[in-house]
Amino acid sequence: MTANEKSGRVIAVTGGAGFIGSAVCRRLARNRQDRIVNIDKLTYAGNLDNLSEIAEAPNYVFYRQCICDGPAVLEILRRERVDAILHLAAESHVDRSIEGAAVFLETNVIGTFAMLEAARTYWSELPADRAERFRFVHVSTDEVYGDLQPGDAAFHEDTPYDPHSPYSASKASADHLVSAWRSTYGLPVIITNCSNNYGPYHFPEKLIPLVILNALDERPLPVYGTGENIRDWLFVDDHAEALEVVLNSGTSGRKYNIGGAAEKTNIDVVRTICSVLDEIVPRAQGRYADLITFEADRPGHDFRYAIDARRIDEELGWRPRETFETGIRKTIRWFLENQWWWEPIRSHSYGGERLGLLRSDSTKLATQGH
Ligand code: NAD
Repeated sequence: MTANEKSGRVIAVTGGAGFIGSAVCRRLARNRQDRIVNIDKLTYAGNLDNLSEIAEAPNYVFYRQCICDGPAVLEILRRERVDAILHLAAESHVDRSIEGAAVFLETNVIGTFAMLEAARTYWSELPADRAERFRFVHVSTDEVYGDLQPGDAAFHEDTPYDPHSPYSASKASADHLVSAWRSTYGLPVIITNCSNNYGPYHFPEKLIPLVILNALDERPLPVYGTGENIRDWLFVDDHAEALEVVLNSGTSGRKYNIGGAAEKTNIDVVRTICSVLDEIVPRAQGRYADLITFEADRPGHDFRYAIDARRIDEELGWRPRETFETGIRKTIRWFLENQWWWEPIRSHSYGGERLGLLRSDSTKLATQGH
């Protein structure tokens, strides 16, 4: 079955104003038979500019709503007669979780609990045929599995959980709650665990956009440790497609790993960005790689993540369309052409000072994965 064979549904997307959620909303809204209901609190990471191309679409609606308020979410599910939920709302930045874990537990754990309870109540009220088709897709991360050394087998769906940061521990907790709601109440859930995403509309505190923008600003490009940490990189539109495929064809109660088949060391990622920039917008003097600096590593920095994504390929026929080389070029071009989007975030209106974006050591924030 292809991604677009099902239509005429109402799909709620939590966190739809974020980086991945907005890619999901933009993709799903292309099918004008479907109605997309975006539920997002608009934290610092939520940005309605990510949705400007669908803001006026007749099949798209936005609710500014915190997911921790279960009764309010339930009211939206009932009013919109939702058929499926894609749950992406989360606090997502590892470094922020080390600086302050409370909001991660609040949104990622308590918020997911509230979503599950709202979904369960709503689902129990549906007529049998609609209840049968209902899905709660919980979008999680590969970081719940812990980390790997070179030569270790990649994470598969049965790899035991071993989270190392407050972020990954909060996501692991949420995954366990979702599984428990399946076992205990029979809620038709699917969990996806995905590797690092990159692409258009990526918030500039994360590694790839920050390296691109700092390079263009002639600022230092600090990298943790020796930059040998390995991540698997997935272009965000590929992730959005994978989630649509899982929603349409995934088996209720099943887990699917999603990866980009693109393992790279952090230093390779930074060097690749530099060499593409050298080619497209050369510096007046020198090369962009001259801006790279190495910083003391941060605690608990997982060495390697790698995803075994054979299940989603073999069972649902999904695999990434972009290689890292094609995806990073698209991403760099997008950032070069869309200054209107990132300029306000880099400057005062999104609290650049608070994010450390205006400090010389700021890029340290971005060098850890997600
Ligand atoms: P993001 O930080 O860009 O977006 C998160 C969105 O959730 C924002 O729009 C924010 O406003 C919203 N949100 C936060 N708290 C909320 C609350 N209490 N109520 C309602 N909305 C709230 O995150 P992202 O990178 O787009 O990640 C989306 C999901 O995918 C997350 O669950 C994350 O754990 C998961 N994930 C991300 C990556 C990655 O590389 N970015 C990889 C794998 C999995």
